[in-house]
Formats: sequence, C-alpha cells, structure tokens
Amino acid sequence: MKNMLIAGNWKMNTNVFESQKLVEYILGFMKTNDNLKSRVLVCPPFTSVYAIGQIVKNSELLLGAQNCYFEEKGAFTGEISIPMLEYCGVSHIIIGHSERRSYFKEDDELINKKLLAILEHHLTPILCIGETLDERNQGKTFDVLKNQLDKDLSGVSKEQIDRIVVAYEPVWAIGTGISATREQVVEAHNFLRQLLIDKFGENANSVYILYGGSLSEKNADEILSIENVNGGLIGGASLKGDSFCSIIQTAEKYVV
Ligand code: PEP
Repeated sequence: MKNMLIAGNWKMNTNVFESQKLVEYILGFMKTNDNLKSRVLVCPPFTSVYAIGQIVKNSELLLGAQNCYFEEKGAFTGEISIPMLEYCGVSHIIIGHSERRSYFKEDDELINKKLLAILEHHLTPILCIGETLDERNQGKTFDVLKNQLDKDLSGVSKEQIDRIVVAYEPVWAIGTGISATREQVVEAHNFLRQLLIDKFGENANSVYILYGGSLSEKNADEILSIENVNGGLIGGASLKGDSFCSIIQTAEKYVV
C-alpha cells in the first residue's frame, strides 16, 4: 500500500467548453465515490486553467498546468508565469515532458530553472524523465535517467525532495499504445527510488514516482500494483472520462 496520484495531461486538447464537460464528469465520479484516498489531478491547456480552477476550487480535484516559465513577469511574449498559474488555483506544474524536450528544444538547464522556481513558489513540479527507444536499445536507459535526474534536480535540497513528483515516461511509450512491460517499469522505478534515496536520503521514500506512457484502464492494474509506482501521468486515456475514472478506481486498490 502506498501514496497514489492519478494525473491527467490533456496536452493540446479540449476547448474551454470541452474541458468543463470533462471535469464535471470527473467531479461526478468523485462525488459518488467519496473518500477517495488517491489524489486526482487534471492538467488542462492554459486557456481552460482559470475556468477549471473556478469549478474545482471547493473540491478534492487538483488542478495542474502543463508548462510554465521561470521568470515572474516581464517581456517574455507567449510565456506564462508561476504566480499567474497560482492565482488560477494551480498546485502542480508538469515540466520536462518529452514533447517539450523534443519539439520545443527544452534542455535540462531550462527544466532545472523551472523546477527551482516552482519550488520557490511552493507549488509542486511534476518532473518528467525518460529514455528514447534508441537509448533503450543501446542499453543506455539507466545512464539517461541518472543524467536527467542529476541535471534537473541540481540545487534541490534534502528537505525539498519530497515536494517533487517524478514521472518516469519512456519516450517510446508516450502516445504509441505500447506501454512499458511490467518488468521494465519495476526495474526503472526501483532504480529511480534508489537513486533518489542515495542522493537525498530517507525523505526520498515519500517521493511520488509516477509511470507515464500509454497507461489505460486495460493495463492500469498491472502497472499501478507495482511497489514503487505511485500513480500515473496519463495522456490519451485522461481525455475519456470513463477511462480516467476507471484508472482512479484501480489506484484505490493499492493506495494507503
Ligand atoms: C503523457 O503525455 O505524459 C502520456 C503519458 O501520454 P499517453 O498516456 O497518451 O501515452
């Protein structure tokens, strides 16, 4: 039994109306299944963040953002600051997602700046890390994960480590319908837990380590039952209310 966080990353999907519909479905599920022990988070696109914040503000449903900039304000056209998100009711911010690393060329130095700024504002970063298929095939998975963690968590103290959520997201499993196998997930999550403990001490035992990559209602039980998996970061399946809620129900079997 363990802590669980089920997080939906809606990516660049849903307009304000569609976001509201989806969140109302999830809230309806949470009402009929009250006393859920798993934490549940949705990360809509920026255009829906304020509207969703108004809907969830007196509920247990947490609100997240998919990105942020590290500066507080100024001449950064097109960027969104952490205080702006905080004002909307955001508690978690995804950073280092592989889509941002690859399409928008975000490097570990930038991700680290975002992570430290999020901590400074007392919000929770969800740091995504993961290897590409080439890296896995070349036997570099653990080196890649260690390298990303070392760089992205640079400057984080032992006292801060349990305020960070880590999401292991093998790049080749994201949006492909091909999830990592149970053995691959066990191996990667055990490795990450040990790495965090070696670097940050016992506080790292309470870090949520999420799995992401084609997690669905079909494979949720196989993956969420793994000891060092504290939930999931879910893309495609989080856009369907029934699939997302079914994953929450599965998480409830393993949560403390
Ligand atoms: C993600 O976007 O973080 C993700 C894991 O997507 P999907 O569930 O669609 O693979």
